[in-house]
Amino acid sequence: MIIVMKPDATEKEKEDVISRIKEYGYRPHIIQGTTRDVIGAVGDERGKFILQSLESMNGVEKIVPILKPYKLASKEVKKEASIIKISENVSIGGSKIVVMAGPCAVENEEQIIKVAQAVKEAGADILRGGAFKPRTSPYTFQGMKKEGLKLLSKARKISGLPIVTEVVNPETAELVAEYSDILQIGTRNAQNYELLKRVGKLKKPVLLKRGMSMTIQELLMSAEYILSESNRSVILCERGIRTFETKTRNTLDLSAIPVLKEETHLPVIVDPSHATGYSKYVPSMSYAAVAAGADGIMIEVHPDPDKAFSDGQQSLTPEKFASMLQMLRNFAIATGREI
Ligand code: PEP
Ligand code: MN
Repeated sequence: MIIVMKPDATEKEKEDVISRIKEYGYRPHIIQGTTRDVIGAVGDERGKFILQSLESMNGVEKIVPILKPYKLASKEVKKEASIIKISENVSIGGSKIVVMAGPCAVENEEQIIKVAQAVKEAGADILRGGAFKPRTSPYTFQGMKKEGLKLLSKARKISGLPIVTEVVNPETAELVAEYSDILQIGTRNAQNYELLKRVGKLKKPVLLKRGMSMTIQELLMSAEYILSESNRSVILCERGIRTFETKTRNTLDLSAIPVLKEETHLPVIVDPSHATGYSKYVPSMSYAAVAAGADGIMIEVHPDPDKAFSDGQQSLTPEKFASMLQMLRNFAIATGREI
């Protein structure tokens, strides 16, 4: 249910409404609007009609049921786009398109520092790199783990770029949060509800990738798991889905961008590297993502793709990344945005 407060509702009236919501066993989520506040009450759907009685409380204008299965992620609760602050000068969801770039995995100090400096130079805003790698085969490189996190934090210090790195299980979530500015949930874990709840309790923005076989509605329900734990900073990522097509690693669902923009206030970014699986297709899909309204892109960049421990085939060299960003600026301008 959404409790719409009157524009002149006092703090005391809001607090009374919040306590009543809690008394009924629901979780209040305050959404500050420009003219009035609304309070989302989420919890067990079965008894929600008890919340209707809040209508008679002072300061309350009306009670509206949220019809979508995802509540806090929906536009019913918050119409304006959410802007998620990552650092002093990087936010996701505003007029600036955010560029995240870096290797699939952190491999050694020289590699990550080199990429960090190169992508920064080219104009990237955030450094990516996996320290914990969820690999399809147990016999392939699994990441440098804590050592990798330390190297990422060194690369952040040198380049000044905030970092995004993956969390693969609830046990190591806190450790990753100590080092990273954004917690990435990968496609393989997008419906790991215990993990989603865990990162929902942490105070770091979460980049939630779409599961490779997930519908858009399921993606939003996964986002809801994080939001309902009180973490409001969720960024969605379209990274391609499984189809019958084999010419590309996945099929980039570009239409997910306008659909998500209609359904949710959360920012949406696109990862064309994992979507296509081939570096040669990455530039065109990046341009298309920006043209379709994405708030950002995530690109794999490696100083020497042929020698990469993982995903070399889809990684751009720093030079190709830099020239792609040059071109991308034109697409951003065409959509009334900037990079
Ligand atoms: C990654 O970003 O390196 C990654 C493993 O991505 P995905 O979860 O989309 O496969
Ligand atoms: Mn990868």
